[in-house]
Amino acid sequence: MSTAIQPTDAARPSEGPSLAAEIGLIDHHCHGLVPQTVERAVFETMISESFVAAPKGTTHFDAPVGLSLRAVCPPLLDLDPFCAPEDYMARRAELGGPEVNRRFLQAAGLERMLIDTGFRGDDIMTPPQMHEVSGIPAHEVVRIEAVAEEVARRGTSGEGFAAAFAAELEARCREAVGLKSILGYRGGFAIDPTPPSATEVTEAAGRWLARGEASGRHRMDDPVLLRHGLWVGAELARSRGLPIQFHVGFGDRDLRLHLNDPTLLSDYLQAMDDIGVDILLLHCYPFHRNAGYLAEVFPNVYFDIGVVMNYTGAMSGRILEEALELAPFTKQLYSSDAFGVAEFYYMQSRLFRQHLARILDDWIARGHCNAREAERIVRMIATDNVRRIYPSFD
Ligand SMILES: [Zn+2]
Repeated sequence: MSTAIQPTDAARPSEGPSLAAEIGLIDHHCHGLVPQTVERAVFETMISESFVAAPKGTTHFDAPVGLSLRAVCPPLLDLDPFCAPEDYMARRAELGGPEVNRRFLQAAGLERMLIDTGFRGDDIMTPPQMHEVSGIPAHEVVRIEAVAEEVARRGTSGEGFAAAFAAELEARCREAVGLKSILGYRGGFAIDPTPPSATEVTEAAGRWLARGEASGRHRMDDPVLLRHGLWVGAELARSRGLPIQFHVGFGDRDLRLHLNDPTLLSDYLQAMDDIGVDILLLHCYPFHRNAGYLAEVFPNVYFDIGVVMNYTGAMSGRILEEALELAPFTKQLYSSDAFGVAEFYYMQSRLFRQHLARILDDWIARGHCNAREAERIVRMIATDNVRRIYPSFD
């Protein structure tokens, strides 16, 4: 895959936006794939953010994401576009999970992947396994709340929690390139933006651990401990030069969408700017315009529309247009948020490339841009912003 850039747009007047078609993307937020062949019923739950079967007599293929999948994915399995879902799934099974994963991942044209390992880690491939399938570097991003839950499962006390959590997070981040929070899934963003006191943390940990032991399930949902996790993570991020990703907006029913507007995080974003920690807002739909505004006014805020292009399919160009309305080009990133099924790596890449080129072509046609500036914009969003804000990948 060529990523060569030409010195002048005069030499290649039409090449600017078309760089989007060939540049190696850095997917800065994605997950592992299911390694084995997936049955249709399971596959359908994985192409819906509901994570459950479609209502009786219907299929998740009859949604923008399913239609888009049928439009672009069958040729990679040697089938015609819009073949019947039955034929698609039969061919998928015939080829087998490893071959399907390899085909879609390689066709995504990625340069490297930054993988969130904090969700259903036992069901999906690890970063080294993802590297094996794709042939490209795969780095780990550590989920703050998942580490707190691990510490609780291993066994600690209210008094011992803070030290055990800090030590474990520090150890887990030694090789990682970033941190991630799912605060958006655990009550949302209307939080007290200040760190809790040591006494508050000890008391909250005692209550939370006891509740976990009684129910047999340690789910990090205590507001005091969530804030504590964000501040311990922030201190680690500051000292190591790591950014912190936040899940924002579009997600499964475990979140409360009205509490996922990232502008609710403004005071915390300001506090992170004060200590020099970069914040990356992931997905953001339908708050991607709010995220663009935050990226404009906070020097430390970045955002993406990961996975949203997959789910909006034929209309995804409009979402990218909206994401490009206001935010500096230096503040937008590329991600797929692909999880489990390899099609999502490929679809988001393809939709992003196609629509970014189209939008920049339109800007050039209307005199708002030229080929050289278009190439710079493609490079910033595809790779350069990620390289600037994450620690060195070497
Ligand atoms: Zn994700």
